[in-house]
Amino acid sequence: MPGFEVFGEEERQQVNDVLENGVLMRYGFDGMRNGHWKAKEFEMAFAQRMGSAYCQLVSSGTSALTVALAAAGIGAGDEVIMPTFTFVASFESIMMLGAVPVLVDIDDTLTLDPKAVEAAITSRTRCIMPVHMCGSMADLKALKAICDKHDLLLLEDACQAIGGSFEGKPLGSYGDLGCFSFDFVKTITCGEGGGIITNNKQYAINCDQYQDHGHDHVGNDRGAETHPTMGYNFRISELNAAVGVAQLGKLDHILELQRINYSIMRNVLSQVDGVTFRRVPDGGVENYSFLNFFLPTEEIAQKTHKAISQAGIDVCFYWYTNNWHYINGWEHLRNLKSLGRLPSEITNQIQDLNNTDFSKSDAWMGRTISSLVKVGWTKTEVQSRAEKIAKIIQANIS
Ligand SMILES: *Cc1c(COP(=O)(O)O)cnc(C)c1O
Repeated sequence: MPGFEVFGEEERQQVNDVLENGVLMRYGFDGMRNGHWKAKEFEMAFAQRMGSAYCQLVSSGTSALTVALAAAGIGAGDEVIMPTFTFVASFESIMMLGAVPVLVDIDDTLTLDPKAVEAAITSRTRCIMPVHMCGSMADLKALKAICDKHDLLLLEDACQAIGGSFEGKPLGSYGDLGCFSFDFVKTITCGEGGGIITNNKQYAINCDQYQDHGHDHVGNDRGAETHPTMGYNFRISELNAAVGVAQLGKLDHILELQRINYSIMRNVLSQVDGVTFRRVPDGGVENYSFLNFFLPTEEIAQKTHKAISQAGIDVCFYWYTNNWHYINGWEHLRNLKSLGRLPSEITNQIQDLNNTDFSKSDAWMGRTISSLVKVGWTKTEVQSRAEKIAKIIQANIS
């Protein structure tokens, strides 16, 4: 996910446009800004690229999730179904609103298992939040059917899979709302930033207002605007948005380079007996930001990952024991460690996460190794990297 790999003249030029007039904020100061509206420009271009009617930029991917949930009316005590394998932002964004995260097993797609989702639905469930981890997607067709049947919201976290698609639709545009991150390690970056897409006009209006203290954004006197509902400040700065304008112009080129490097690695590893690959649901196209593969057992995966690191090969991850991405590493969530008192809806309703059986997730995660796909690698470099990894796997599998 290499936005940072391609920072260059285009990004500097966009930022300079903003620095030259000094309007660092996305709203107002119309006369001073010499026609530069970087946040608005990004939103229009991004909505178009994603085939969505509306886009709202915000300060991060985490705030995008919170704003999207808030825009759809999710609040205290509402249950949101999320996977065990994701980033901490998933439960943070839900709990920020007093809503209750319900953690559910993943399957061989490394995303929500639709059967486990259906089993977790209660009378309080409002939303299903699939997270398209490491470049590939959840079975959106099955999840959409469940949402239709139970009248639930489908909110896609596409932060790690921008540019992938499902049944011809860009990831993030299949559900009711889709969220993206433009932090520094994502496929395209603003430095810090996030975005929400939707075709629902009311959700779009709600997002626009909620992320800016509830401002209605009517007229051109910010001081005179009214506040239909309460909101918060999740605004992106004009400087960050300017970086994103340049990065968005490079997205399709980045995706093509990722596809090429991914294919080289996959081709080499598929010749190793015992290596299998994460399942991509029918109708899905990855964004190729990671190559994710399974080894026969947890023990072999652990040994192999250690040997890969010891050989000095970088950006290969074993998420099962990683602090950021899997329930195993979230001691703070399991024990509800927070600075202040949490809403009683959360403390009363949340699962006992220390004693919930996630053995089905463990069985997949324990065997998974993921390699990041960089765009800066030459074909020869990727080939030799893949051959080294293949040798290490062979040595540890037998
Ligand atoms: C990065 C990420 C986020 C949060 O994005 P930030 O911009 O870092 O707040 C949310 N979900 C997933 C899956 C991510 O990878």
